[in-house]
Amino acid sequence: MLGLMQSQPLLISSLIEFADRHHGDAEIVSRRVEGDIHRYTYKDLAARARRLANALDGMGLQFSDRVATLAWNGYRHMEMYFGVSGSGRVLHTINPRLHPDQIAWIANHAEDQVLCFDLTFLPLVQAVHAKCPTVKKWVALCDADRLPADSGIPGLTSYEDWIGAHSPDYAWPEFDENSASSMCYTSGTTGNPKAALYSHRSTTLHAYAAALPDVMCLSARDSVLPVVPMFHVNAWGIPYSAALTGCKLVFPGPAMDGKSIYELIEAEKVSYAAGVPTVWQMMLGHMKPAGLKFSTLKRTVIGGSACPPAMIHAFKEDYGVEVLHAWGMTEMSPLGTLCTLKNKHLALPKEEQMKVLLKQGRAIYGVDMKIVGADGEELPWDGKTYGDLLVKGPWIVDSYFKGEGGHPLVKDAQGRGWFPTGDVATIDADGFMQITDRSKDVIKSGGEWISSIDIENIAMAHPAIAMAACVGMPHPKWDERPIVAVVRRPGAEVTREELLAFFEGKIAKWQIPDDVVFVEAIPLGATGKMLKTKLREQLKDYKLPGL
Ligand code: ADP
Repeated sequence: MLGLMQSQPLLISSLIEFADRHHGDAEIVSRRVEGDIHRYTYKDLAARARRLANALDGMGLQFSDRVATLAWNGYRHMEMYFGVSGSGRVLHTINPRLHPDQIAWIANHAEDQVLCFDLTFLPLVQAVHAKCPTVKKWVALCDADRLPADSGIPGLTSYEDWIGAHSPDYAWPEFDENSASSMCYTSGTTGNPKAALYSHRSTTLHAYAAALPDVMCLSARDSVLPVVPMFHVNAWGIPYSAALTGCKLVFPGPAMDGKSIYELIEAEKVSYAAGVPTVWQMMLGHMKPAGLKFSTLKRTVIGGSACPPAMIHAFKEDYGVEVLHAWGMTEMSPLGTLCTLKNKHLALPKEEQMKVLLKQGRAIYGVDMKIVGADGEELPWDGKTYGDLLVKGPWIVDSYFKGEGGHPLVKDAQGRGWFPTGDVATIDADGFMQITDRSKDVIKSGGEWISSIDIENIAMAHPAIAMAACVGMPHPKWDERPIVAVVRRPGAEVTREELLAFFEGKIAKWQIPDDVVFVEAIPLGATGKMLKTKLREQLKDYKLPGL
């Protein structure tokens, strides 16, 4: 017997329709590439998304055709999130920080038909457009009078001219909720990038889950600043959850430096922000010497790489801001776990609570996770035993676009498929997961594993250290030994010996790094994560002390 409830597909267009009807006057504020601040409402957004949908229909684009962006976080990008997917096409957000050859490769692989870009990326588009034969239309996300005259890009149109010529009247089509809605390529640290292809169903379910109280806890009373770029796994789904909750949205545009972000938080009374640790490092680095404080910011989600305890501490103790440590990946839309306390933790002393908050957190409903050993057997949830982390759920990839990378899922005894995350983790009895390492970064010393994240966290707790990256170096007896590359804070002094002494008593003696290498900067990847492959290349002539 089937239930007798209305059968309505979960479509991205329903999110913007909802925001239009129920939160029409909630504000969306954007810093534009031009430098000024732009303001409008969800009602305006919805009308312009419908104009865009008409423009896409007008050029004869088919269902599931790909429309790409090279753009910062801003209102026009947000219109594309809804206009492109809502009308049945697939939004392909390209990371502009990738190498131009890689961008051309991705655009070709995705067979993008339209590519819309912020003027910041004009030189990049000039460099790659001739290598992108599938792109029929190039659109600059700008006013008509800003369109560069001799760009050399055939048929370049301004976005405003393009959508302005079309009506805001449009009936969003209804189709199968499993249809593709957007795509995002992984950074391709191993081989060519692979694309996760999200569906309307997966995106809508993820949007619901992300808004839950123990997840991002978004509401119509929040003012939300996604610092995490809209080209980094759909800004962690915030644009969709924002439409669902009707929160005020604040977009930073191209101004991603600490000062600009801080000023925007204050000016727009931001209560909630989200970003990777390196962004917050920059902002705190701006605030501390100037003695600045937040007047409205209450919570911030930090994820994408391990959040150093010193940062969680600084946010809480110095600025009264609660840090929500999150873990996820492109293949997971991206949210997997988020760290919020359970009732039983509330009576614990502060330091004990902090130990829990440092973990990557508990699974969100919709994500099932487990850790397994080399033989594939599930390992205990004791907070000590570590193993490969596997996940499954309705917003986790089944396979990649065009079958790249084969069939990634691992079958269990019941034949259910689990996605191997490539992370090594522990899970405690309360279900809190803690990442030890990415499997390729784990350091194996004398048959035992050493967590590079633990070492980095300790180094970054030292007042003189701004950033730290730990890698394993070949050792004839131990296989590998850890060393830590560190960047000193401006004007701060610390010697190799002092830093090594700082590790004593914090981890087992044999886990303490063999050496400290002082560097000017740690190489960062396109999404602000430490690029250990590059660091290892830079250290290729390095020899461990005594060898
Ligand atoms: P890519 O895999 O292409 O670098 P993702 O953004 O998908 O890009 O990265 C996912 C990976 O980032 C995870 O598998 C994990 O290794 C790491 N990661 C994400 N969040 C955290 C976190 N809070 N702590 C530690 N590692 C994290």
